[in-house]
Amino acid sequence: MDIHEYQAKEVLAGFGVTVPEGALAYSPEQAAYRAREMGGERWVVKAQVHAGGRGKAGGVKVCASDVEIGEACEDMFGMKLVTHQTGPDGKGVYRVYVEAAVPIAREIYLGFVLDRTTQRIMIVASAEGGMEIEEISAEKPESIVRAVVEPAVGLRDFQCRQMAFKLGVEPALVQQMVRTLQGCYRAFTELDATMVEINPLVITEDSRVIALDAKMTFDDNALFRHPQIAELRDKSQEDPREARAADRGLNYIGLDGNIGCIVNGAGLAMATMDTIKMAGGEPANFLDIGGGATPERVAKAFRLVLSDKNVQAVLVNIFAGINRCDWVAEGVVQALRDVKVDVPVIVRLAGTNVDEGQKILAKSGLPIIRANTLSQAAERAVGAWKNDLSQGVTMRAVS
Ligand code: ADP
Ligand code: MG
Repeated sequence: MDIHEYQAKEVLAGFGVTVPEGALAYSPEQAAYRAREMGGERWVVKAQVHAGGRGKAGGVKVCASDVEIGEACEDMFGMKLVTHQTGPDGKGVYRVYVEAAVPIAREIYLGFVLDRTTQRIMIVASAEGGMEIEEISAEKPESIVRAVVEPAVGLRDFQCRQMAFKLGVEPALVQQMVRTLQGCYRAFTELDATMVEINPLVITEDSRVIALDAKMTFDDNALFRHPQIAELRDKSQEDPREARAADRGLNYIGLDGNIGCIVNGAGLAMATMDTIKMAGGEPANFLDIGGGATPERVAKAFRLVLSDKNVQAVLVNIFAGINRCDWVAEGVVQALRDVKVDVPVIVRLAGTNVDEGQKILAKSGLPIIRANTLSQAAERAVGAWKNDLSQGVTMRAVS
C-alpha cells in the first residue's frame, strides 16, 4: 500500500526525520488560509497523488502570495495529474499540501528498499538528488552509493557516517545525516515498509538536513499489525479494479490486455498469463482466486474480471488439487447463470474429478469453450477473442 507525501512526512517526523513545516488543504481557500496561518513569504503547493515526478508534470508550484496559491490550486484540484509514474490515465488530485519553501543548497537521493538478492534492507543514495533513481542509474550509475543492513545488528551509525562521507556531506552535518538515516530505517522496519524514498533529501543554505519529499510503501500483508497505517489508505489513488478486488479478498492486478484470467494459485496465474502471451494474446489481469474456489468466489471473480471494459474473452484455468473439478465446474456454471457474461468463456480444468467437472460443463448447455491443456486453452481464448473481433459481434454466454 502506498501513502501520500504528507502522510509519509508525518510518519517519518515521528521517527526523528526533519521535514518542512506544512499543512494539508482540500480547497484553494483552505490552502491560502493554511499558508497565512503558517506565515513566511514563499510556499510550495504540492498535489497529493500516489506518484512521483509531480514537479515536472505541474504538480509542484512555488508561490509567493495568497493569489498565487489560489491560482496554483485552481489548476491542480480535480485534475488528473499525469506523471511518468501514473500511467496515461493519471491520478486525481483531491488534496494539496502547502509547505514552507526551503532554501536548497544541495539535493540528495535517498532510498531504502528490500533487496531480494542479498535478502537485506539496502540503502541506496546518490549526490545527484532531484533526478529519479531510474535516470540516475542510467546516466550517473557511478554516483550511486549503497549500504546493506545486517538484520541481526540493524543499521549501525558508522554505516550512516560512511554513507554521508561518500555523498560529500560536510562533517558538521554528518550527525544530522545519521539521525535521518536511522529514522528512515526504524520507520521502515518497525512499520513493515517495503520502500522509503526521500527524493530529494536536501541540505539547506542554513545547514539543515531536510526531507523535502517522502514516499513510503507498506507490505499489505502486515497492515493488520499497523492499524494507524492501514487507516491512511486512499482508494481514490488506487486502480478501481484492484480496490474492488482487495475489498473482496481476491488477489488481483489489473493489466492492459483483453483476455481476463480466473485462476487458482499465484504460480498458475503467472503461467496462464505467460501462455496467453505465447499464444499471441495479452492478459487483462492477474487474478488468483485462492484454494477454495467456491461458487460464490468464482462468481465474484467473474464480476470483477468483467467490470473491466477491456475484457473481450475470459479464460478460467483451474488445477484442482485440494479442490475438486466438479465443485469448480458447478461454481463456473452457477457464476455464469448469475452473472451476465457477454464474451467468450474458455474453461480448462485439470486435477481431481476432472471427468465429472467436464460433464457438468457439457450438460449445462452454456456456450462454454472447453480445453484440455493450458496451451490449448490459451490458443482457444486468443482465437475466440480474435474471431469475436472479426465478426464484430459479441457472443452471449448467458441470456
Ligand atoms: P516530485 O518528486 O513528485 O516531483 P518533489 O516533492 O520531489 O515532487 O518536488 C519536486 C521539486 O520541487 C524538488 O526536487 C524541489 O526542488 C522542489 N521542492 C519541493 N518541495 C519544496 C519545498 N518545500 N521548498 C523548496 N523546494 C521544494
Ligand atoms: Mg521527489
